[in-house]
Parts: sequence; C-alpha cells; structure tokens
Amino acid sequence: MIYQSPTIQVELLEDNIAKLCFNAPGSVNKFDRETLASLDAALDSIKQDSNIKALVLTSSKDTFIVGADITEFLGLFSQDDAVLLSWVEQANAVFNKLEDLPFPTASAIKGFALGGGCETVLATDFRIADTTAKIGLPETKLGIIPGFGGTVRLPRVIGADNALEWITTGKDQRAEDALKVGAVDAVVAPQVLEAAAIQMLKDAVAEKLDWQARRKRKLSPLTLPRLEAMMSFTTAKGMVFAVAGKHYPAPMAAVSVIEQASTKGRTEALQIEHQAFIKLAKTDVAKALIGIFLNDQFVKGKAKKAGKLAKAVNNAAVLGAGIMGGGIAYQSASKGTPIVMKDIAQPALDLGLNEAAKLLTAQVARGRSTPEKMAKVLNNITPSLDYAAVKHSDIVVEAVVEHPKVKAQVLAEVEGYVSEDTIIASNTSTISINLLAKSMKKPERFCGMHFFNPVHKMPLVEVIRGEHSSEETIASVVAYASKMGKTPIVVNDCPGFFVNRVLFPYFAGFNGLLADGGDFAAIDKVMEKQFGWPMGPAYLLDVVGLDTGHHAQAVMAEGFPDRMGKSGTDAIDVMFDNKRLGQKNGKGFYVYSVDSRGKPKKDVDPASYGLLKDAFGELKAFEADDIIARTMIPMIIETVRCLEEGIVASPAEADMGLVYGLGFPPFRGGVFRYLDTMGVANFVALADKYAHLGGLYQVTDAMRAKATNNGSYYQ
Ligand code: NAD
Repeated sequence: MIYQSPTIQVELLEDNIAKLCFNAPGSVNKFDRETLASLDAALDSIKQDSNIKALVLTSSKDTFIVGADITEFLGLFSQDDAVLLSWVEQANAVFNKLEDLPFPTASAIKGFALGGGCETVLATDFRIADTTAKIGLPETKLGIIPGFGGTVRLPRVIGADNALEWITTGKDQRAEDALKVGAVDAVVAPQVLEAAAIQMLKDAVAEKLDWQARRKRKLSPLTLPRLEAMMSFTTAKGMVFAVAGKHYPAPMAAVSVIEQASTKGRTEALQIEHQAFIKLAKTDVAKALIGIFLNDQFVKGKAKKAGKLAKAVNNAAVLGAGIMGGGIAYQSASKGTPIVMKDIAQPALDLGLNEAAKLLTAQVARGRSTPEKMAKVLNNITPSLDYAAVKHSDIVVEAVVEHPKVKAQVLAEVEGYVSEDTIIASNTSTISINLLAKSMKKPERFCGMHFFNPVHKMPLVEVIRGEHSSEETIASVVAYASKMGKTPIVVNDCPGFFVNRVLFPYFAGFNGLLADGGDFAAIDKVMEKQFGWPMGPAYLLDVVGLDTGHHAQAVMAEGFPDRMGKSGTDAIDVMFDNKRLGQKNGKGFYVYSVDSRGKPKKDVDPASYGLLKDAFGELKAFEADDIIARTMIPMIIETVRCLEEGIVASPAEADMGLVYGLGFPPFRGGVFRYLDTMGVANFVALADKYAHLGGLYQVTDAMRAKATNNGSYYQ
C-alpha cells in the first residue's frame, strides 16, 4: 500500500501502475475538506515513489465522485475573501499536482463525476467512462462557477463552445454524449472499465499514445482564431442572458471567465477563475440557491425517514377523474404504482384517460419514452365506475368535486369497500381535514394529500395532518408522494393549509393595490421582472381560475376574519361577478386567444380595465418598491405565522413549499431566506410603514423580538 486514509487508498498494481481509489465511508464519494487533504497527501506519496510509471484514478462505489460537499459551502463562503482565496488556491494546487505528475494519468469513471469530481478527471491525461457515467459541472445552478479549474480545463479539452454549453447550463452529460465532444476518450462496459483504463496507460507508457501533447494543450491558452473567439463569446453571452436572465449572474460570469482566460496559460487562467468564484460565492443568489439545495436534501431526508414507518403502497386508487384525478392517475402509473381511477361518469373517465395518453404521446414524441413504456403506463390505469374496483387498494386518494357534502359522502362510502388498514387521503384544497375526518369511521387512517395543478409538472405535495391522523398514515402518504416523484412536506390542518394560506394574503395585497387605482398589468410586470415570480398575481389568478380564487378567498376570510375578512367588493369579486373566470373561459384580468402556432396567447383587455375603473376609479401609478412591499409583506408575515403556529415545521420546509408549490423565485431562496438576506429588523421597519393597511401588515411579536435581537431564521 502506497497510501491509505479513511477516504483514499493507493496501491501499486502490475507494471508499476499505481491505482488511487476513492473509497469514502458511507454511500458516495464527495469532495469535502478531508478528502481534498487526503488527495494532496496521496499525491505526495505517489510523487515520492520512483517506481511508479502511471496512475489510474478509480472509485470503489457505484459513482466516481458526486461533487463537492455542499454542506460545507455556506460556512466556507461566509469567511473573508482572503480565507476563501487561500482555500481555492490550496485546492487548485492539489489538482495542479495531479496534472503535473511526471507520468501519464487516467480516470476510470462510473456513475457521477460531477463538480469537483469532473474537475478531478479533467486534471488527468485520459478519461475512460463506463456506460453508467454521468459527467458535468453543475456549479452555475448553485449560483457559483466551478472553482477547481473546471472553467480552465474543460474548454481546453472539449473546445470553448461545448464547454460554454456544459458550464452555463450545468447539465450532467451521459457517457456517449461526453464521448462525442471528446470529454472522455472511450466508453466501455462497466466490467472492463478499470482494465481499459490500465491498457490506455500502458499504451501511453509505451509511447503509443502521446500523453504529453494532451497535457500541454491543457496548460496553454486556447487555440481559437481571434475572430472566431469573438463570435463564440458574443453569441454565448446573448444566449445565456436570454435564458438565465438578470437574476442569475453565474452563467454569464462563467462566459466572461472562459473568455478572459482563453488567451492565458494555466496559472493566470486559474487566477481569473479564483477571483470570479470568490465574487459569486459571496452573493445572496449563491446563498439562496445553495440554501435550496440543502433544504431539498433535508426535506427528502425527512421523507426517506418516514418511509421506514410507511405501509407499502403497491396498488392505489383515485376517486374522481377530473383535472386533478386524471393527473394523479397519470403520475402514479408512470412512476410504477398501478392505480384504479373511479368516477361516476363515463365521459369523465374517458377524459382522464385521454389526458394521460396525451402526456405520454408527447413524451414519446420528445424521445423521452417509447410506445412500449407508454402502453405499460396506460395499462397501469384501470378506469372504473364501480367502487368494487378499489377494494384491494393500499391507498385511496379522493379528488372529487370541491363540495364538503359530496366529499363526506364519498369518504364514508369508500370506507365501506376497502380493507381495514387502507389509507384514505383527500386532495381538497380548501376543506378542513378535521371536518372531513368526521365522516369517517376510522379517522386515524385519513389525512390530506394536496397536489398542485398540473400534477405532472408541480413538484410539491402538501401532506396535511388532521388531529386524528396516525403517524403511519402520514408516513405512508409521504412515502407514496415520494414514490410518485414528488416532494412532500407535512403540515398541520388549518384554513388554506400552508401554501394557500400564505398565497391569499398576497392576493389581498394585490386587491388592495387595485382598489387604490393600481394597474394589474403594471403590477404583474413588476412582480415578474423585478421580484422574479413566474407569473404576476393577475395572471396567476387567471390561470388558477377566478371562481376557484373567489371560493378559496371566502374560506380564508371565514378562517381568519381578523386579517383576511373582507369589506366591500375587491378586484377578484369584480372579475368573478362579471363571469371573467380566467383562462378557463378565455377572459379574466386578461383576454386569452390562440396564436397562429396554436399556443395560448394573453392580451390586455380594455373591458376588464373598464370594469375595474367602474369599481375603483381612475388608474394611479405606483412605484415598483411600493408594489412589491404591498403584495409581499402580507405573504411573508403569514408564512412566519405558519411557522410560529407549527403549521409548518421548519423554515426549510416552508421555503421549499413556496418554491415548489408556488414558484417563489429560487434566486431569493424562499420567504425565510429572503427575510434573513434583507435582515429581520429591516423587514419589520418596512412592514411598520405599511401597518395602516390592516392586520395582514402587522408583524408578530416574535418577529419584532427577533428583529431586536438581530436574529435570523436560518443558522
Ligand atoms: P373536476 O371538476 O375537474 O373533477 C371532479 C371529478 O369528480 C369529476 O370528473 C366528477 O365526475 C367526479 N365526481 C364527482 N362526484 C364523484 C363521486 N361521488 N365519485 C367519484 N367521482 C366523482 O375537479 P378538479 O379540479 O379535478 O378538483 C378535484 C379536487 O382537487 C377538488 O377537491 C379540488 O379542490 C382539488 N384541487 C384542485 C386543484 C385545481 O387546480 N383544479 C388543485 C388542487 C386541488
């Protein structure tokens, strides 16, 4: 053994080829500080051994290296620039040491080689992948750029254009795609991976392969004619800005770094990368995106733990084949859980199945599925008009019309058909889970399972715990949601549950602005372009449906009369009363038509402006900051109330609920990250300025205390 640490072993194989194996305790290899220090020490031992003629890097796990240890990032990035610079320089010295070894080197890549893992293999002369390999530099998705030489080495290995695409999109690439652009030298079957890498090294040692020429290319400036380089980088900047937009600076920074470094040798090029890396690491956007990554891990970890207590769900049923029931059936079936779809009307069943078939056909057309897989998924959905079909279900999701009496009857009926321990969940969006539980004989087997529309696209499922729901029930629904590829968060029962409870105060802020003469299209523009929501409030209400919005608003007003109670007519009432229901009937705040390519098109409509003018008078201009404050303060305070009341268990889950359920701008990280970023005291001072607007603008005592103590919601 040449070297051994808890994460890395180096041994000498035949023909004096050394093998360095990443073998971290636990399930995957990642680049934490300890592994980096180990790699450094291992390379020193290798350098000192004069017998070694070549080096192969391998992994004992299913994956090579998944990337840096992101749990270390936030702590690390909060340090002074000088500390951060010295960390990046030290890390890069390790990769340079690997690149500069006096003999040929190769990486044998299986599974993921992402981020730091990808940068490791780029530092070797040769890269052999097996068919399971996935390679890439996802750093821009976290608001930073690769910091271990990725922006320098990748363009020199696969060319500037390819590298720009890999780095600015952050996507991981399959082995065969990596081969096409020359990121790897060969793709082989998993069982011959190591042997193939060793053979390549033998050929290099025997000078059949020119490893020195490859290395020289990585140490030198990029060989791009000036004009071509200018064209490449200018085009890339235009394209990247169009996709990433002004709120996500990392992809653009990556283009600039690659451009500036293109005329430099390794040392100077790396310095350019270091400086840009440090600047991005310090941004609020990086903090927010890294926060989301960590929160996602946390929420998924909780769901995994719940899995231990869960009842296996091998057969499911959904009651109601409407928009939601059809979507739930499709999602369950396509993720491998057969499902019975029960309705009272044959046309509804036909519609539900047609919707599923449409989604599947689109996937086949995009090459993401095959006709065989499509047939299998459709076979996994059993339409039925008869309750007898749900008899053997492990779980039944009720998704019939939003009417308390109908739901109560359906829940009581279904209990008579299923077995004693079948879990029953309701997809209601506004009816109390505790109220619905009253119609059941065994309320402990019941809880809420709130999907979002469209089911196949929206990642969140709210699992609502009623006062009688058993832990096994909650755990089973969480596990089933995860199996469906969704991210579940568990919340306690209250009007609106969590997501709608915080959304309606935002709509109330919007209504208030309109009542004071605000222009809904101007408000949408500010909330989309400046705040970063995927849709402004008027557009969102049109998409949700003004009838649904109107009904839910009444439920919220009843639930929280002190601050959500209504006085007089608001803009939602105006649209609803005038049968402007939104996209579903072609007119709401906006008017909808179909463009020449068959895509839905939205336009402003003088008629809706006319109605609003009749109700609220002439239009008045509002500053962007005023618009943001008046809509966001109510949502933020209500989110904090939900945490304080235990409706949601942690800031992490609340923020993921907002990002995954409502599309809260990821670069802001969620309400709690946003509060921490702006400072709780600053928020309280801002809210106090708007306190005259009513109860939704009154901060809680605990928020005020946190502001005084200079506290934050995340550590
Ligand atoms: P929908 O009107 O599209 O579908 C309801 C279906 O239930 C219809 O096909 C109807 O025939 C069927 N149905 C009625 N009575 C039935 C019974 N006794 N047994 C079986 N089927 C019966 O409604 P939807 O939009 O799919 O909503 C369903 C549920 O999902 C509601 O509780 C709603 O609040 C909730 N939800 C809707 C959305 C949304 O955006 N549409 C989002 C989240 C939750």
